Amino acid sequence: MNRNSVLKKVKKKTKEWDIVIIGGGATGLGCAVDAASRGYKTLLLEQSDFAKGTSSRSTKLVHGGVRYLQQGDISLVFEALNERGLMFKNAPHLVSNQSFIIPTYEWWGGPFYTVGLKVYDFMAGKLGLGPSNMLSREEAINALPTIETDGLKGGVIYQDGQFDDSRMAISLAQTAVDYGASVLNYCKVTKLIKEGELICGVVAVDQETGEKYKIKSKTVINATGVFADNIIKMDEPVKSDIIVPSQGVHLVLNKEFLPNDFAIMVPHTSDGRVMFAVPWHNHVVVGTTDTLVENPLLEPTALDSEVDFLLETAGKYLVKQPTRKDVLSVFAGLRPLAKSEDDGKKTKEISRGHKIIISITGLITVIGGKWTTYRKMAEDTIEKAIMLGGLPERDCITKHLPIHGFRMDVNPHTDLFAVYGIDKEEVISLGDEEKQLSGLLSKKLNIYKSQVAWAVRKEMARTVEDVLARRIRGLFLDARESIRIAPEVADIMAKELGKPNKWKTEQIKAFNALAKNYFFTND
Ligand SMILES: Cc1cc2nc3c(=O)[nH]c(=O)nc-3n(C[C@H](O)[C@H](O)[C@H](O)COP(=O)(O)OP(=O)(O)OC[C@H]3O[C@@H](n4cnc5c(N)ncnc54)[C@H](O)[C@@H]3O)c2cc1C
Repeated sequence: MNRNSVLKKVKKKTKEWDIVIIGGGATGLGCAVDAASRGYKTLLLEQSDFAKGTSSRSTKLVHGGVRYLQQGDISLVFEALNERGLMFKNAPHLVSNQSFIIPTYEWWGGPFYTVGLKVYDFMAGKLGLGPSNMLSREEAINALPTIETDGLKGGVIYQDGQFDDSRMAISLAQTAVDYGASVLNYCKVTKLIKEGELICGVVAVDQETGEKYKIKSKTVINATGVFADNIIKMDEPVKSDIIVPSQGVHLVLNKEFLPNDFAIMVPHTSDGRVMFAVPWHNHVVVGTTDTLVENPLLEPTALDSEVDFLLETAGKYLVKQPTRKDVLSVFAGLRPLAKSEDDGKKTKEISRGHKIIISITGLITVIGGKWTTYRKMAEDTIEKAIMLGGLPERDCITKHLPIHGFRMDVNPHTDLFAVYGIDKEEVISLGDEEKQLSGLLSKKLNIYKSQVAWAVRKEMARTVEDVLARRIRGLFLDARESIRIAPEVADIMAKELGKPNKWKTEQIKAFNALAKNYFFTND
């Protein structure tokens, strides 16, 4: 994860890569791991930071998708349940078991959801996480002491997975690098290069220096999520859009709203979706919504109506109605849904399955999918790249490939440092070895100074936002507290990167401007 040494490789005009991947979210990073672990010369280019897009803004579930079962998308549920099991096995330091309870307020709710969830368990087969069961009213209240008890009949408990999305992304980047890939953040693809009619590389611009690189490659993969149409138009300017961006918003609340370790799943909200309230890093994440968006942005913002909807719906199930004042962080993400043949479909009805499209010029575009299915998406995409680029055939090995940091003896639920896996002790010891890195940055969020230096040295963090949003999840957990510690983060980073005071001031200003969109000032 050394940016300068990757830049040196990229500058070599003679170098031809086997596979260039555009986009450093779940999909692109998954492709990089797959390609590199098969031994192909792989380069990944991300215009901003890894997981800056959708991949840091999910509900943090590693799941088969109970909702997709309701919708009858059986093949997607099978695929996602299988991938859920593999993610557990390959990244136990990042993925953990989460018990969900569906509170039931109708007499038929208990038996109805139990039967559905038994099917879900059955479909998971050997990779199941534990059986679903019906709960009595008392059992449901014991597990969820803050649940609305008026009319409560009982509940149904089932098991799914939970993870830290952007930490998973960083670990995937590290895994790809461990297998010989080169990954680069802040390097934007601006053009595709063609030889005759066929794509043979990309032009990319270093966003820090403005330097332009011509990069040659046997194959090019477009894994840019909601921005996939931009890349497709570099290839075929008149092509019609294939992406339907759909926004989902989450609110982060204090743990007191859901004090135990159980999550709530509401199977049918007033807009016909599901809603989750999930304990995460000692806070509670409530989400989400499904709003069609015209113009996708890298930094989308929540609509008032989405926030109102989440607060209202959460209030129906919790004794204490949360208000805007209780929101410690609000974040929005955009689903890169693949446009369906039926234009009239609402975004919530569009399948979450993935699609791979190959243009006649050889651009491979992968869209749709879920974080949970990133590995399978990557396997399918690299198979296409092998065929298209005439690469020597090699089998995919990612089904049983441990993700960087792999370690069984840490618990991501209770241990803040679990996400570092085998690197955990080294991150901690930085604070013991270097006096200026010892101690806490935030007691409230349990963030240590050594984590900042680690993010710069080992995880290619370039800005205060990279650290506070995606290496450490401060911005997503408590935006105000993140603003408070931003100057100290900038200070440590400036020393690590050798940057002047002016850089620090600019970084703090930029971070504060961004973080203001993550909390409410009025109400
Ligand atoms: C609200 C919400 C909740 C979700 N919850 C879950 C969940 O709980 N579990 C689950 O499994 N899935 C969930 N998902 C789905 C999952 O998050 C997405 O499927 C996944 O993150 C998409 O990853 P991606 O790599 O395709 O896109 P992105 O993460 O957006 O990555 C694309 C990247 O391409 C980069 N890029 C764009 N243009 C260029 C260019 N010209 N040059 C270089 N780089 C470029 C962007 O900067 C971006 O980082 C959720 C999605 C949303 C929106």
